[in-house]
Amino acid sequence: MANSIPQNTDTQGGAEKGTLYVVATPIGNLADMVPRAIETLQTVAVIAAEDTRHSSRLLAHFDIKTPAIAYHDHSDEQRTENLVRRLLAGEDVALISDAGTPLVSDPGYRLVCKAREQGIRVVPIPGACAMIAALSAAGLPSDRFAFEGFLPAKQVARCAFLQTIANDSRTLIFYEAPHRILETLQDMASVFGAEREVVMARELTKTFETIKGDKVAALAEWVTADINQQRGEIVLVVQGVSKIAMAEMTLEHERVMTVLLDELPVKQAAAIGAKITGLKKNFLYQWALAKNEK
Ligand code: SAM
Repeated sequence: MANSIPQNTDTQGGAEKGTLYVVATPIGNLADMVPRAIETLQTVAVIAAEDTRHSSRLLAHFDIKTPAIAYHDHSDEQRTENLVRRLLAGEDVALISDAGTPLVSDPGYRLVCKAREQGIRVVPIPGACAMIAALSAAGLPSDRFAFEGFLPAKQVARCAFLQTIANDSRTLIFYEAPHRILETLQDMASVFGAEREVVMARELTKTFETIKGDKVAALAEWVTADINQQRGEIVLVVQGVSKIAMAEMTLEHERVMTVLLDELPVKQAAAIGAKITGLKKNFLYQWALAKNEK
């Protein structure tokens, strides 16, 4: 194996074990393939790929002739065991998914777990990841963030889930399918409030890359008006609830809101509460939702 790739020093019963390389691949632009990823894929004994047919284009482009076998988390146990056996016997294995970083809303968790259980060295080869790319360009706070992956496909479950995180002060990151983007933005507007800032990052690194930030209700209108925004691959980066607003909520404000909520639906209580307290209506709305959850 070439010098730039760390050597495996683990041993078992005197025989040197192989290394499992977790290799990120581009999310659209092949020029984002890092040299160490190419070198690793060229030199390992076998590539475990989410979909061998899908990855064949990437492998051909970089003149990688290493045999590839299909691996996903629903592969039968036998396939995971076989890969672990090969690793224990000293062969190096590279894990790739269709695009981006394996294990990030992609297969690989089971194999990495099993490999680590067996004391096999697991080496990440970092590269493209859609959620990190979106966060890096969104201009929303990035000191603390939570990656939520894909939301539930059904509306009731989606709204229920959104409610559980409505009061999170961290920036929230979601993957979303193009045919659900409009419904999801509309649900976010109703659960998080129309004013919540959202950045939609679509087709990152590709020809039609679009990064647009706006209040979520306005973003939903924009997506409705332009059908092209309902195509391709999408990441949503959502601003967390303001910590300043949270800190401004005094005991007296809470008392006012509690009284209002006893008499009125949440929306109305938030609107009147905003007039009484001077706090933002959307913040009070989310506070009320979170209170109702408890
Ligand atoms: N493991 C991948 C990664 O590291 O980003 C994610 C795989 S997940 C199955 C696929 C989802 O990632 C897409 O539905 C979309 O939400 C997001 N995604 C992938 N590529 C993207 C791109 N080029 N632009 C925007 N979002 C992308």
